[in-house]
Amino acid sequence: MTRGLNNSGIPLRKINNFQIAMNIESLIRENIKALHSYCSARHEFSGEAKIFLDANENAFGSPIPGNYNRYPDPMQTALKEKLSTQLSIASDQVFLGNGSDEAIDILIRIFCRPARDKVIICPPTYGIYETCAGINDIAVIKISLDGSFQPDTDNILKQSARLIFICTPNNPTGNIIDRSKIELLLKHFPGIVVIDEAYIHYSSQHSYVHELAIYPNLVVLQTLSKAWGMAGLRLGMAFASRELIAYMNKVKHPYNINTVTQQLALQALDNGESVGIWVNTTKEQRNWLHEQLTSLPFVRKVYPSETNFIFVEMANAPVVYQLLLAKGIVTRLREDHLRITVGTSVENHLLINELKNLLM
Ligand SMILES: *Cc1c(COP(=O)(O)O)cnc(C)c1O
Repeated sequence: MTRGLNNSGIPLRKINNFQIAMNIESLIRENIKALHSYCSARHEFSGEAKIFLDANENAFGSPIPGNYNRYPDPMQTALKEKLSTQLSIASDQVFLGNGSDEAIDILIRIFCRPARDKVIICPPTYGIYETCAGINDIAVIKISLDGSFQPDTDNILKQSARLIFICTPNNPTGNIIDRSKIELLLKHFPGIVVIDEAYIHYSSQHSYVHELAIYPNLVVLQTLSKAWGMAGLRLGMAFASRELIAYMNKVKHPYNINTVTQQLALQALDNGESVGIWVNTTKEQRNWLHEQLTSLPFVRKVYPSETNFIFVEMANAPVVYQLLLAKGIVTRLREDHLRITVGTSVENHLLINELKNLLM
């Protein structure tokens, strides 16, 4: 595939024998490039000191134990170094956000000019991509996944957009996106390819983190909210080239990750022994739920899952959803499907019992 210029007029450059639009600079909004970002007090001074009289903090303390009277490290240095070691990635290729949702919002804001640029999503998929685009007045091109829940790459490559969001394993369908499709997009899509790996720990897929050196237009998202069991903390991660991460840092709020989150995330990362055990238990429970759900007569299809949830197509899904709610069990309704999170063994048994009771 040879194209001199893509639809947005961005010059292509040859890399590894592939023609791809790799010039990240040319995709960044002009106002973001020109921006002099606010330099916080704690950013301006990061050396050793005895007395801090630079940030108008309360010098006496906080009403509760802990040094919460001091602003947090704006660049989250310790946490990034820990992640850098654990994931074998340079710490300046890591962006930390208040959940991955913050990273999604910032990516849209640095690459997409309001009321002009577009992003591509492949429904059914995670809802936040469209919401963030809408808030920023960015049009969303929706190119639905095909019958096997794979992206229609031919159609995608005909579009002109700044960003594409690919969620793999995908929420809510639970499947992984074929590597060949993703590689095609990474090589030929003339914008940024964001790969959301929120559920990577539950899947057989290798993380794309290790491919950042090959694809300058790649951004990988991960989170502590799922397998790591820290959804309440709000810590999401984006991994990309140094250049791209530097732009994300330029745009983020100076103290976007609070002190408590930084401290607890460091502790969690040092105490991850349970994560692998939970992942294995989740997979066992997922298999059990899959079998049980398949045997219910009103269930039309239980989709194979590489995540901690199961996507189930059934007759009268809205009714089943309401009846489960009445029993105190909350699932997620997606048109004629339920997306059911894998719970503990006790929770999963209660769910299946209630579903069986519906038959009587
Ligand atoms: C849960 C989830 C996330 C995580 O979002 P956080 O803001 O980090 O909690 C990201 N992407 C997808 C697809 C998800 O399902």
